[in-house]
Amino acid sequence: MLTTTVDNYPGFPEGVQGPDLMSAMRKQAQRFGAEVVEKNVTAVDFAGKPFKLTAGGKEYLAKSIIIATGAETNWLGIPGEDRLRGRGVSSCAPCDAPFFKNKNVAVIGGGDSAMEEALVLTKYATKVTIIHRRDAFKASKAMQSKVMGQVQAGKVEIVWDSEVVGFLGEATLEKIRIKNTKTSEVGDRAFEGAFVAIGHNPSTEIFRGKVDLDEKGYAKAFDHTKTNVEGVFIAGDVHDTHYRQAVTAAGFGCMAGMEVLKYLDK
Ligand code: NDP
Repeated sequence: MLTTTVDNYPGFPEGVQGPDLMSAMRKQAQRFGAEVVEKNVTAVDFAGKPFKLTAGGKEYLAKSIIIATGAETNWLGIPGEDRLRGRGVSSCAPCDAPFFKNKNVAVIGGGDSAMEEALVLTKYATKVTIIHRRDAFKASKAMQSKVMGQVQAGKVEIVWDSEVVGFLGEATLEKIRIKNTKTSEVGDRAFEGAFVAIGHNPSTEIFRGKVDLDEKGYAKAFDHTKTNVEGVFIAGDVHDTHYRQAVTAAGFGCMAGMEVLKYLDK
């Protein structure tokens, strides 16, 4: 819902707007009788059958459940970030990189995501600057060495020991305010794009203690889409830390749906 053009979802040769894709999926599900309740689920009870969900102060009973609550991008929470999101500030290079053809962009972070975003961006941007708060990357050696290859090729620059403290610009991003963590010196540098890649948080708070989660809070999957609770399944980024694409999440949704049918039959 938050992205603009989705160019990597099959079946849309010209791309599709994120919200349009979502509303088409909703209509398609409704054609088969799906009822959509637009309320936040605030509590779940998987202890007995049927399972119980509380949403909007009302209790819902279910014979089976698919958890597909996704994961949220971590944001820096700094001035200008909310206002310029979608106007130069992004968190998804595979989605937005083509908009930055021949432009100067920055990537913030030092993990594998940041390396991956930077590598994707080198195919479009004039130059990619990685801004990292420490003097070493957390990313795997393999990803780091790919990035270092791009540094040697002059496509990537690395700014170490630096925190991004502000995004500046009128209609779109124009500058990034950067603070050196060693000298505390603050300066502005011109960029047309900024990709925040500082990790994701799975939306699993209400499931804590109800299904098994890993140490980072992602739902644990057994046998592809099953949780440790029989009849409760998972699909998408709430479990998948690796692919994190709309099309892979939709594929997981199909797998979980088929498992639900099998479970209900049994
Ligand atoms: P990570 O948690 O691995 O890395 C987050 C990075 O962001 C760290 O370098 C961290 O800095 C930095 N960071 C966190 N918070 C802030 C902040 N507030 N301000 C500035 N910097 C911050 O997340 P990723 O999304 O990179 O990766 C998640 C998982 O997915 C990992 O297991 C990763 O290996 C995997 N992955 C694998 C890929 C692949 O193999 N192709 C591609 C993408 C992800 P610091 O280093 O100082 O902690």
